[in-house]
Amino acid sequence: MSKGKKSMPRQAYVNGRYTPHNDAAVHIEDRGYQFADGVYEVVPVYNGILVDEEPHLDRLERSLRELQIEMPMSRAAMKLVSRELMRRNGLSRGFVYMQITRGVAPRDHKFPASASPALVMTTRQMKPHSPDMIEKGVKVITLRDIRWERCDIKSVSLLPNILGKQAAAEAGAYEAWQIDDDGNITEGTSANAWIVTDSDTVVTRHANSEILNGITRVALLDLIEKEGFKLEERAFSLEEARTAREAFVTSSSSFVMPVTQIDDNPVGNGHPGILTMKLRESYIAYMNSLKEAG
Ligand code: PMP
Repeated sequence: MSKGKKSMPRQAYVNGRYTPHNDAAVHIEDRGYQFADGVYEVVPVYNGILVDEEPHLDRLERSLRELQIEMPMSRAAMKLVSRELMRRNGLSRGFVYMQITRGVAPRDHKFPASASPALVMTTRQMKPHSPDMIEKGVKVITLRDIRWERCDIKSVSLLPNILGKQAAAEAGAYEAWQIDDDGNITEGTSANAWIVTDSDTVVTRHANSEILNGITRVALLDLIEKEGFKLEERAFSLEEARTAREAFVTSSSSFVMPVTQIDDNPVGNGHPGILTMKLRESYIAYMNSLKEAG
C-alpha cells in the first residue's frame, strides 16, 4: 500500500451488499456458524482471469444439490459478483471465495421450513510461491483419515482437515496426507495427492466420495492425457508412496507442488521429480493461456 494515498478498503459481498471486509458479518444463527451447514468454493485468479470458473461453479452447484440447499442467486449473477469484487479489490492474482449456507434460522438440527441460503463472497491476494519451495520441494506427514464418508462435498465442516494441517505445521511440513483403513492415501487436507512410479506412470486416487475431486486435479488429468504420459487413477498405499520415484500435490493454491519428503523418508532422490516439474510447467502454461470468456 502506498503511503499518503488513500486506497479503497478491501470489500466483501454479504447477502446482496458490498461491504468493507473488516465489517462484514453474518447472523449468529446462521446455520453455517451453528452447524457447519454449508459449502464453499475457491476459484483461483491468475493474470486477472478466474481459472476454471465453470468447473468450480459446477462443483459448487453439485455440493449444494447434495445438501438440498438452493443456489442463492443465478450462476450468471455469481459470475458478475465475482468480477465486481475482483474489480473493487484490484485482484489479479489470488482467490475468490464463495460460501453458501442454509441460512439463518432458530437453532434446530433439521432443515428449517423457511430459510434463504446465505451467500458470502470474499477475495484474497496470493503471493507467488517461494522459489525455495519449488526448488527443494515440500514435506508431507501422514495421518489417519478421520473424516466422514462424503468428502466429495466441499463442506465448510473442516475440523479434521484443520487438525491435520496443524499437525503438519507443527512437524514443519506443508501438508498431511490422510490414510484410509486399508492403508491407502486418500488426499491431503487441502490438496490432492499424486505419485509417479518407477515406470513413469502418474498415479492419483480415483475420485469417489472419499476425496474431493479437485478442479486442479481434473485439469491436470486432462493435460497428462494430452501430453501422452501414462496415468492410473487408483488407490495407492503409503508404502507405494514412500518408495515412489516422485510425488506431488495439486490444488488451486499449490498448482502442482513437488513433494520431496514423506514423514522421515525422502521421495526418490530427495529432489523435485522431473515429470512433476514438467507437469507444473504445463499447468502454469495452461493458466497463462486462459482468456476472459465472452
Ligand atoms: N482436497 C481437499 C480436501 C481440498 O480442500 C482441496 C482444496 N479445495 C483439494 C483437494 C484441491 O481442490 P482444488 O484443486 O479444486 O483446489
